[in-house]
Amino acid sequence: MSAKIRLFVDHPLGPGQSVALNRDQAHYLFGVMRLAEGAPVALFNGRDGEWLAHVTEAAKRGGVLTCAEQTRPLQMPPDLWLLFAPIKKARTDFIVEKAAEMGAARILPVQTEFTNSERIRQDRLQAHAIEAAEQCGGTYVPEVADLQKLSLLLDRWPADRQLMFCDEAEAEGSSAPPGLFDRSASREGKASGPWAILIGPEGGFSEPERTRLRALPQAHTVSLGPRILRADTAAVAAMTLWQNTLGDWR
Ligand code: SAH
Repeated sequence: MSAKIRLFVDHPLGPGQSVALNRDQAHYLFGVMRLAEGAPVALFNGRDGEWLAHVTEAAKRGGVLTCAEQTRPLQMPPDLWLLFAPIKKARTDFIVEKAAEMGAARILPVQTEFTNSERIRQDRLQAHAIEAAEQCGGTYVPEVADLQKLSLLLDRWPADRQLMFCDEAEAEGSSAPPGLFDRSASREGKASGPWAILIGPEGGFSEPERTRLRALPQAHTVSLGPRILRADTAAVAAMTLWQNTLGDWR
C-alpha cells in the first residue's frame, strides 16, 4: 500500500528506523487523518530522500512510525536563492510557499529602503516552506533566513553568485528579456552555477539601491514584461523564467 500522506520529520531516516512523533504530528495523523496502526505514511527530512513508513504505535499525544524502504532519493533544487522584501502577511506567506514549490534552495527576506515590515516570524515562514514541500512532493526544504538588510547582504555578496535583479523600472519601454534567459544561450552553459533572484517591495526600489545594484558585477537587471506586477506575482514569474532557462526545467 503506498502512502497518501507525506510528512516532514526532523529525524534521521533509514531502514528499520523508528521515528517518534510529537504531539502535533500525532494529532494530525491520528486525530485529523484518522490513521490506525499499520497505515503507510511517506516521510522526508530534507536530507535522506523519501521513505515509506508505517504506523507502529498510535496514541493521542504521540506515536511511532517505522521506516520500511526508501521510495525516492533526495532531489536537491538548483542553487537558487530567492531574495524578497516582505510585504503583507498573507502575500509574504504566499511568496515563501511558492518559492518552496518552485524549487528555491534558500529563501532570504530582505529589508530594503521601502520595505514596510521591520519584523518577520521566521519560524512561521519556515513552517510554510515545510508544508509546501509536503504538498508538492519535494524531498528538500528550503531554509528561510531571518530578515536582514539588503545593503549588508550586498556588502558581502559572494563573488560567484549571479543576481537576477528584477527592476520595475525596466517595465517601461520595450526591453526584451536579456539574452541570458534565452534557452539557446543557457544551453551553452553560459549561466550555470549559483544564482539569486531579487524582488522588491510594494514601493519598489529606491534610486540609490538601483544604482548600487546596477554597479554590482554579478547583477543582471531584468524586466518581467511591460506591466508592473505585484511582488508576489513577480516572485513566481521570475522563478518561472529562471527555472525554465537556467534551472531544472530544462
Ligand atoms: N511600486 C512600484 C512597483 C513595485 S512591484 C512601482 O510602481 O514602480 C514589486 C517588485 O516586483 C519590484 O520591486 C520588482 O522587483 C518586481 N517587478 C514587478 N513588475 C516588474 C517588471 N515588469 N519587471 C521587473 N520587475 C518587476
